[in-house]
Amino acid sequence: MSDYLADRTRLIDASGIRKVFALAAELENPVNFSIGQPDFDVPEAIKAAAIEAIRNGQNSYSQTAGCAQLQEKIAGEVTKDTGWDQPGVLVTSGVSGALLLAFMALINPGDEVIIPDPYFVIYKHVINMVGGRCVFVDSYPDFKLPAKKIADAITEKTKLIIVNSPCNPTGAVYSEDELNQLAAVAAERDIIVMSDEIYDKFCYDGQYPSFAKHYDKTLLLKGFSKAYAMTGWRMGYAAVGEALNPLLNEMTKIQQYTFVCAPTPFQMAAVVAMDTDVTCYADEYRVKRDMLYEGLKDKFEIVKPGGAFYMFVKVPNGSATEFVKRAIDNNLLVIPGNVFSEKDTHFRISYATTNENIARGVEILRSLT
Ligand code: PMP
Repeated sequence: MSDYLADRTRLIDASGIRKVFALAAELENPVNFSIGQPDFDVPEAIKAAAIEAIRNGQNSYSQTAGCAQLQEKIAGEVTKDTGWDQPGVLVTSGVSGALLLAFMALINPGDEVIIPDPYFVIYKHVINMVGGRCVFVDSYPDFKLPAKKIADAITEKTKLIIVNSPCNPTGAVYSEDELNQLAAVAAERDIIVMSDEIYDKFCYDGQYPSFAKHYDKTLLLKGFSKAYAMTGWRMGYAAVGEALNPLLNEMTKIQQYTFVCAPTPFQMAAVVAMDTDVTCYADEYRVKRDMLYEGLKDKFEIVKPGGAFYMFVKVPNGSATEFVKRAIDNNLLVIPGNVFSEKDTHFRISYATTNENIARGVEILRSLT
């Protein structure tokens, strides 16, 4: 019956998360530690800007690369963070949109992409979909950036290295030193690095270090979904220094014939978002992280995360899939590690939820050890 489907559909497996959601649908008032989006709403000033843009008739296509006002604002911030002079900017439909454009512009069938494992789940499936080959480099057990192992994994076919800090699912924030080591590896072999910095606003133990300022051949990806809780507005961007302008031009061409542009009224709202201080949310998440870590650290093996809103916790024994089934039987939703990894030894907690839920979740998890 599925003969009419293209072969590439078989390269995508969304079953892991789907299984958790199917089980979740049967629960009543579960403690939900599975959601990958903030638990606050879009700040009022940003909502007002979107509504005003719609009322003012800013409802048609924008330029493919984005509204000039937003592009300029992003360029200013990128220069501040990276030191790049006049960076190229492409406003995209979320970071997910930018990822698809980047992979389509860079990867030929058979090309290899090096990805630290655990990894954000979209990378693997979209790379497979365009015919690339993922080369996973283990970052267990401390989830530090494995620069030496990445160097060893480079072959003639390596096209791209991906770095994601703060990291989904581990919450790891790589230090300047770790980033520098990776930059040296990439520079020596002249390989492009894609740096997914979507969680940049959620760093709890100091300044957020950007990989982009360490290496001129960085494709920098950032977004608005997490920082401003606008996951449904589909806003993100890709930025490059002069060295990667040809790549950004090709991504823009592909956007022209696929997404066309990012949603115009939300681009106007994003201009206001960039002037909105969200440190109060990061402060709240720091408290949640500490609550969870303090509540679990004597019962579980955990690397204390420095950012994002995730914790990647080792299961005490057996597989993560089995552990997650038991958690769900006890009304707690977490995601098994094999959704984000080639291993099935950990589970991901998202602590973007109320403090009350965190306290309930800690109780349940402690009872499962
Ligand atoms: N990168 C990472 C690491 C993410 O966790 C997410 C969202 N979960 C994305 C990219 C995509 O985000 P969006 O498309 O909403 O910008």
